[in-house]
Amino acid sequence: MQHKMPTLFIAHGSPMNAIQRNAFTDAIGGLGRTLPRPSAVLVISAHWRTTGTRVLNAAWPETIHDFSGFPEELFRVRYPAPGSPATANRIVKLLEQFGVKDDPEWGLDHGTWSVLRHIYPGADIPTVQLSLNRRLDLAGHLALAQMLAPLRDEGVLILGSGNITHNLGEVDFNEDAKPVLWAEQFDQRMALAIEHRDVDFLLRRSDPDWAALWRRALPTSEHYIPFLYAFGASDESDLISFPYQGIQNGTLSMRCVQFGT
Ligand code: ZN
Repeated sequence: MQHKMPTLFIAHGSPMNAIQRNAFTDAIGGLGRTLPRPSAVLVISAHWRTTGTRVLNAAWPETIHDFSGFPEELFRVRYPAPGSPATANRIVKLLEQFGVKDDPEWGLDHGTWSVLRHIYPGADIPTVQLSLNRRLDLAGHLALAQMLAPLRDEGVLILGSGNITHNLGEVDFNEDAKPVLWAEQFDQRMALAIEHRDVDFLLRRSDPDWAALWRRALPTSEHYIPFLYAFGASDESDLISFPYQGIQNGTLSMRCVQFGT
């Protein structure tokens, strides 16, 4: 029987992490060398939002540079991993009840390649993306993610790419910015909720004490939702670990989460 793959949530933060080397990129680079080698990677990126859920179904996905105002070097990055139409078709079947459709147009966005180029620098693992359906609420995303769990027994690495704090108005693009207290507090509280698989907290049904901090840490949810995919495809038997934790740019939690081994 095939090894049951872990699921991952990988923080991506500023796109500059794609071309930099720091403690965070070293940590995620280490994952690629220690995790069991997947047959394909399914990435759920904060940067692909659609009406209805879509699956990238391309033999050779393009590298998409979906940002502006960054150095030319970043626009030259290519991540030439093959796609996996077989995995895409399998996902469409698994998610039949959600009416998921193929999308041959999208490519690999920077939520995907900025982290995969550290984890799998050889770009030799077939890569598929699943979009975030704008119409689903957090519980809806979690329900959809649970349907993906069988892929883990088929050698597919499910990887959410986002951030568990993401307030662009409070990001300090000075790379030496010190962590801000509210971001540290929210990140620590989130770590506790993850370790206890506290679904009420993770679905933002938290007590009123945390409501203000939720709004500050995540004024919008798109960077958080990819975490729910890694979580949703995991179960009680999975060991929970944090391959990296820390804050970048003052307020961006770079906490990464691994479910399973
Ligand atoms: Zn992002």
